[in-house]
Amino acid sequence: MFTHICKGCGRQLSESDTHCPECNLAVTREEKNDPLKTWESDYKRIRFHWIISVVLFWTTAGITAGLYLIHGEAYVNELVFISAVLMALGVYLKTKVLALERKKPDRQ
Ligand SMILES: [Zn+2]
Repeated sequence: MFTHICKGCGRQLSESDTHCPECNLAVTREEKNDPLKTWESDYKRIRFHWIISVVLFWTTAGITAGLYLIHGEAYVNELVFISAVLMALGVYLKTKVLALERKKPDRQ
């Protein structure tokens, strides 16, 4: 999908436009959507979210284990629930990372 906004007037441009129909500003080629660049930014963002969810999961799991050792049952049910949610989130994000890896566009 091509979405490009004119720098001069903010008008939405179509893929075939070389000049803005509104203000005649030239559409520079490097501003065009590069599928690989789009993919890379998506991939980095989702991978970053995944890493955060994994770190949060292990932090919560560590706190849960620590509290269990010190206090017994107290707080543990809530923390186990949070850990489970974070683990589910981590698994979900990991599947998105793997799906994106398969969809990586070829370098032209
Ligand atoms: Zn314009």
